[in-house]
Amino acid sequence: MHGNMLRLVLIISAIVLQFSTCSVLIEKIDEERVENQCNLSEDLVNEIRGYKNVVSKITDHILNGKFKGEVHKSLQIFTDKFGSRMAGSDALEKAIDYMEDLLKNEGLENVHTESAKVPHWIRGYESATLVQPRKAKIELLGLGTTVGTPRGGIIGEVVAVRTFDELQKLPDSEVKGKIVVFAPTWQGYGATVRYRSSGASEASKKGAIAALIRSATPFSIASPHTGSQNYAQGVKKIPTACITVEDAEMIWRLYNEGENVQIRLEMEDYNLEPVISRNTVSELQGTTSPNKSVVILSGHLDSWDVGVGAMDDGGGAFISWKAVKFLKDMGLRPKRTIRSVLWTAEEYGYYGAKEYAKQHKENELEEFNFFIESDTGTFDPVGLDFTGNKDAECIFKEVLSLMAPLNATQFATPADGGPDISVWLDRGFPGASLLNKNERYFWFHHTDGDTMLVEDPDSLDRCVALFASTAYIIADLSVDIPKDVKN
Ligand SMILES: [Zn+2]
Repeated sequence: MHGNMLRLVLIISAIVLQFSTCSVLIEKIDEERVENQCNLSEDLVNEIRGYKNVVSKITDHILNGKFKGEVHKSLQIFTDKFGSRMAGSDALEKAIDYMEDLLKNEGLENVHTESAKVPHWIRGYESATLVQPRKAKIELLGLGTTVGTPRGGIIGEVVAVRTFDELQKLPDSEVKGKIVVFAPTWQGYGATVRYRSSGASEASKKGAIAALIRSATPFSIASPHTGSQNYAQGVKKIPTACITVEDAEMIWRLYNEGENVQIRLEMEDYNLEPVISRNTVSELQGTTSPNKSVVILSGHLDSWDVGVGAMDDGGGAFISWKAVKFLKDMGLRPKRTIRSVLWTAEEYGYYGAKEYAKQHKENELEEFNFFIESDTGTFDPVGLDFTGNKDAECIFKEVLSLMAPLNATQFATPADGGPDISVWLDRGFPGASLLNKNERYFWFHHTDGDTMLVEDPDSLDRCVALFASTAYIIADLSVDIPKDVKN
């Protein structure tokens, strides 16, 4: 009897609890429904849907017409001719000169360059050897702006950790004078790349003499991946490089098995004074005011000094300017200007974009309407990653729904905006980045494997058709894309 009563009370409480959870859920869904509701006027919706034929025309010309395969062909000529294009290098400046001529010859408008000061770091001779508990060569790539070792190299005992937390917990005396090897588990690029960016600084704070980092990639065939790093203010600058996933894991295991692990490291890398590089600009000028409400299409022209930067970011840069060229050749001139900007020195921390934002600050609210970027690969496109306010999102979703012929209607909001255009997006300007089937992007990222073999002509055609169609519609609409800009 007593037991049954208790059971009844429990059942009733469970029902009440479930009901209240349920009503909370219903309220939440209602809120979301209201939030997702778009109040675009019927006229505007009809206006946007009216661009369906334009999208068909653009898509057909690029996928089946005379432009077919052109992006791939041009990118191949470009990467074969200049190879890698590191900021500060002659190769990058020669590539920029070449692009300026090419864009003029291709009939683009207002072709010019705009200066930006960029880092100048030189990769010297680099070598690493495991000397204890056995001898083995360790492949490495110094990280951009790293200092070198003293002449003749250094030999250090190893401390291997997976996380910054583990390093923090070690007494300074256990790290001082040693080489820290970071072997972070891959947890996506954003979470994992922190070890590459700040590994040297964190190790240096504990008195380490060098920091070697597991390459930021989910997959490896024993090749190191380079990238940028930053020394925190006030820390002693120590040499830092990425090593392969295979070696980082092996060193971590040896260390945790209690072996005395020692590495000999020699790096002749060094920094020089910054130099002047350039962003490369070209346009299809709008039929109304050419310098107002411009739509930016962009990618970066610089790369690391390994591979040829075909994927990062040759593909992104080339679909950006080719989209403008194809629109012009098709006689599709929108009301507003579409401007392609090929950024310089993205890899060191978007120096080109930051300088461009500074130079164009004064009239930025009138000058810029929408920013588009491709810098996460140009594999098969699936849609666009959007950043902007609710009103902008409503317009954008309508535009994106027209990309069905390209199978690229997927809408997403990025965890972090595209690197170069984030300079504006983080402040409330609306913009979008290419979403593509880039599951293999980080396999090749910042390695000798970033070559034309990663790029597919048909995928590039679909990417450029998506960029051209989106930019054209946004530049031609009767309304600007709404923005909430903070300073
Ligand atoms: Zn990039």
